[in-house]
Amino acid sequence: MSSVTAGAVVLGIVVTAVVVTSIDEGRADAAPTCRGDRITVAELTSGCAVATGTVVLPDGRRFGVPRAGTTVSALPVGAAGAGDPGDVSITNTGRAGIAVVVDHVWSGSPAAVRQERAAVRARSAVVARAATATTTQPVSSCSNKTFTKLGFRWAAPVSWSYNATGQKVSGASTIRSGADAWTGAVSACGKKATTTAAERFVGTTTQATGVTAAGGCGASTGTSVVGWGSLRSGTLAVTCVWSRSGTAIEVDQRYSTAVTWSTSTACSGARFDLRGVATHEWGHAFGLGHTAQNSGLVMKPASTTCEVGQRTLGLGDLMGIDALY
Ligand SMILES: [Zn+2]
Repeated sequence: MSSVTAGAVVLGIVVTAVVVTSIDEGRADAAPTCRGDRITVAELTSGCAVATGTVVLPDGRRFGVPRAGTTVSALPVGAAGAGDPGDVSITNTGRAGIAVVVDHVWSGSPAAVRQERAAVRARSAVVARAATATTTQPVSSCSNKTFTKLGFRWAAPVSWSYNATGQKVSGASTIRSGADAWTGAVSACGKKATTTAAERFVGTTTQATGVTAAGGCGASTGTSVVGWGSLRSGTLAVTCVWSRSGTAIEVDQRYSTAVTWSTSTACSGARFDLRGVATHEWGHAFGLGHTAQNSGLVMKPASTTCEVGQRTLGLGDLMGIDALY
């Protein structure tokens, strides 16, 4: 895989679904209905109501139309020097149509945009912006207090299953270790916190993960599945989260089968540290967004090969999970 030699590869995409306030699927005086399996963003500007089908972004990424009152968001991240496909959020307000935001630029139904903008502002506050974003000098993970919230949290332990089909390394316990970096008693940079973030490993499953090869998400199944599969070049893993009224109800993850992985601290060569990447993906799963690439934190968007240091929380990571849980 060519991206492996590039040294820094996309760490992942998080897709969230957050219920918003207006749920009305049955009004007779609703806007015209958009129909079809491939609804473009341009078509959504009519304010049309959409109940089924797929929203297709100009870059080809597809999102199953979320149920009325639901938002589907994607936070893709590019390798240094590579094209960044942009953060995406798609909200189905029901009667007011669908709002789309790509890299903070809104489109779609104007009424839906007005509604969702306010909701996003309320639930996804950026707590601190990285002051070092314009520099190239990495900052210490213990001097950076940056974290961002995605707008949801779990009210109960995350129960999840593992599908080993296609796994490149025996991954369940390693991926679970990434999750547990955030749960219970956590420490970073000499500071300690006790969080209520928790996960429960159910066991193996044959159910497929809901993450698609293009980095989108299928329909929510109600069962959280972590598995393997192809992903776009330069993407190591993708996380999808569904939530209702800010409470997450399902998380699916897909780890790339096109990447050479390592599970050892003695990692060498063009391999990526599965535990470190899983720590990042579970940060998304628990509700944390990206920090600046040079933040030195687990939640920076891209990983280099054998970056075993990403297994360990930085100060901002600790403060973020402590703020959420
Ligand atoms: Zn990420």
